[in-house]
Amino acid sequence: MKAMYPGSFDPITIGHLDIIERASKLYDEVVVAINENVSKKATFSPQERKELIEKCTRHFSNVRVIIGNGLTVNIAKKEGCSVLVRGIRAIADYEYELALATTNMKLDKDIETVFLVAKPEFSFLSSSIAKEVAHYGGDITQMIPESIIEEVKERLL
Ligand code: ADP
Repeated sequence: MKAMYPGSFDPITIGHLDIIERASKLYDEVVVAINENVSKKATFSPQERKELIEKCTRHFSNVRVIIGNGLTVNIAKKEGCSVLVRGIRAIADYEYELALATTNMKLDKDIETVFLVAKPEFSFLSSSIAKEVAHYGGDITQMIPESIIEEVKERLL
């Protein structure tokens, strides 16, 4: 079974990476789909985000990264994915994720959303928090995958 993990990944954090790793053990293939989230202004271009994710997922043989354009369920269908993986950190994520999953369910009843619960050490980690810390020169080693830290730091300082 193939799963898609859609998100902004602006940039990928170790919390995202943990979800990718866990999903890669559950499914035959995981397609990480970078969406151009219109309501969020992105810092990194889709191509940059793709390269960053590829750099830190190289060691997973069943993970692929794409830039998705359009409705998530349509992209999933096109890629042959019947599952959408999303991460839930704290209760604050729940309402938004529930609305999203319910909408996707209405749009395509054959695609299921599966939630993976964030590890406690990552439950307060987000791309925006990591960006803010990096921007002010703080230590992001506990937030951003090691192989892309320098790139991310340079870009945000
Ligand atoms: P989006 O803009 O689609 O919410 P994000 O890149 O912010 O994209 O998040 C993608 C998915 O990953 C969401 O389901 C989000 O809840 C989840 N996620 C984000 N950060 C973490 C984390 N630290 N641990 C686990 N899941 C996370």
